[in-house]
Amino acid sequence: MLIIGAGPAGLVLGNMLRAEGIHCVIVERQSRAHVESRARAGFLAANSVRILAGNGLAAGLLAAGQQHDTCAFRSDRGQFELNYGELGRGEIHTVYPQQDLVRDLIAEFLDRGGEILFETDVASVDARQARITLRDGRQLSGRYVAGCDGRHGVSRQAVPGRRFQRDHGVSWLALLAEAPPSMAAVMYAIHPNGFAGHMARTATITRYYLQVPRGTDPEMWTDDRVWDELHLRMRADEYGELKQGRFIERRVVDMTSDVLDPIQHERLFLAGDAASLISPSAAKGANLALMEVELLAHALARAVNHGDERLLARYSQDCLPRIWRAQEFSHWMINLLHGPSGDGHDAFFARSLQRARLESLQNSRTHQDFFAENYVGI
Ligand code: FAD
Repeated sequence: MLIIGAGPAGLVLGNMLRAEGIHCVIVERQSRAHVESRARAGFLAANSVRILAGNGLAAGLLAAGQQHDTCAFRSDRGQFELNYGELGRGEIHTVYPQQDLVRDLIAEFLDRGGEILFETDVASVDARQARITLRDGRQLSGRYVAGCDGRHGVSRQAVPGRRFQRDHGVSWLALLAEAPPSMAAVMYAIHPNGFAGHMARTATITRYYLQVPRGTDPEMWTDDRVWDELHLRMRADEYGELKQGRFIERRVVDMTSDVLDPIQHERLFLAGDAASLISPSAAKGANLALMEVELLAHALARAVNHGDERLLARYSQDCLPRIWRAQEFSHWMINLLHGPSGDGHDAFFARSLQRARLESLQNSRTHQDFFAENYVGI
């Protein structure tokens, strides 16, 4: 079995297949040090924790992960908190940095007898032959190929079908501060200057987001400028100062989403960002990836160990409704968090809709249950 990509999708899949006794090689373009230090996701949904724990992959996150059950919204109308752990299905997040999870998954995969070829770049995939060609011209083949190589990978190019894409037209400056969280809750601040977000990562690292114009050069945002703008948009004068520190990461993320349909072709199966890219507005990407690889691992194990390809045949059909549900919620979050700029008639209309959405979320228990179920659920 060949897996392209040592991100959360490829590594969880590899670990689950090794537990079924299936020979697995993961091919990864970057070095081990690079993937073990690449900071991205942090919020793991209850379903993701169940998948990881159920497959013996959660020792690190159960020991060091922080439980998280509250988010808050700030705007010119004040602030309100939602304790989503007591709403909807009563599910919570576990916060565990993605790079720590990747480090745990690599160690476990190697312990289980898996092989990883780091610094090995895949140039193309032949889905019919289940064969990959490396940049240096070498070829590797297996019985099946799992394309877990993220949004810029090559495996999605080998799946003919439709790609439904949405550019949400907004961008975030994604920041990691060497500073403790400033508050217990995830904070979503809505401000005329644009959205600002606060999310805990560890006791000493906090993720912040600032909405910025498309095409912004992240280096134009010095530490002082970022803190000034975060204080302004988070209304720190009213609600309290943020705990400051040095920024150790600043990058611009354009809010785009896409879904491939189908997410399989011949003997190639896509999972994670390779199958569907989701904007980070609702922190769903890594969680969707785990949902997909659980289904894929089960289907591949049936095929390899029992010669039964029926689950593999319906892999796309089983995943796509859940992918679209997550996309729908993520899209709803984008509309909730980003107001239009300008003072024209259309901007006023859109801003009023945004306010109405926020008020409904603040005051309607039914709306809050819907939010909680979708915010944590997959
Ligand atoms: P990736 O993690 O991208 O891994 C793909 C791997 O394939 C990479 O290691 C790459 O080097 C390798 N690769 C690519 N091309 C090739 C090639 N040609 N040959 C060999 N290897 C190749 N999601 C959440 O659920 N919760 C969050 O809180 C959250 N926060 C986020 C914050 C930010 C700023 C960003 C950018 C994303 C966030 N996400 C979050 C999304 C999440 O990080 C991704 O959805 C997740 O990394 C997807 O995992 P993956 O394994 O599919 O892909």
